[in-house]
Amino acid sequence: MPLPPLIMFDLDGTLTESKQPLSREMAWALSRLLTVTKVGIISGGALPQFLLQVVEQLPADARLENLYLLPTSGAALFEYRNGDWQKVYEERLSEKDAAHIAEVIRAAAKETGVLDFSSPSWGERIEYRGSQVTLSALGQQAPIIEKKRWDPDRAKKRALQEVIARDLPDFSVKIGGTTSIDVTMQGIDKAYGVRRLCERLGIPEPDALYVGDELGKDGNDEAVFKTAVETHEVSSPEDTRAFIESFLVQK
Ligand SMILES: [Mg+2]
Repeated sequence: MPLPPLIMFDLDGTLTESKQPLSREMAWALSRLLTVTKVGIISGGALPQFLLQVVEQLPADARLENLYLLPTSGAALFEYRNGDWQKVYEERLSEKDAAHIAEVIRAAAKETGVLDFSSPSWGERIEYRGSQVTLSALGQQAPIIEKKRWDPDRAKKRALQEVIARDLPDFSVKIGGTTSIDVTMQGIDKAYGVRRLCERLGIPEPDALYVGDELGKDGNDEAVFKTAVETHEVSSPEDTRAFIESFLVQK
């Protein structure tokens, strides 16, 4: 594959394990990729999470001006200019919407019976991230092993998603990571973020590439098929790193 002018990556399960920092090897591969092309990263997390997982792991001389961050599933876009992350856009939910969404999530947990809010959790379960409200079923700081164990066949997340979407017809309700559901404004999803970034950079969608670990049906990356970008599915961060390396040896 020739080197695309823009490569976009999902974060959890693609560049890193869920909520973990980039590995040293991945940080190195990504920083070399940034010297040859533009890179976008799109995920359900908020900006601080991106800085922690990605930016702070990169070598000090990384070409951050070639890196574009799309937190909260593409509801916002940040670029690095004049030594700081500048907001290009952010589609914010109001506090009132956020409170209503939280209420609906709690009711859905009760109705489906798959999640008990009175049981102990690892940190907050519902987080308002400006442009998104996220349910993390076990809490924001739950250990990966517990998260992987909670819903391996996605049945619990699907049940929650269905009921929440039914009760929030004016919002977009998507399965996020291993234990999470993301609620954004209607029409905001990874496809929206991908489109906005291509537009911002003046790169035709078919020239850009999206790399993710959940491009299949109901997967967290599936929305990207609504755009015209090329896609590549990976099975793990290791697989992604090998794929990145394949572009670096071409140079
Ligand atoms: Mg993923």
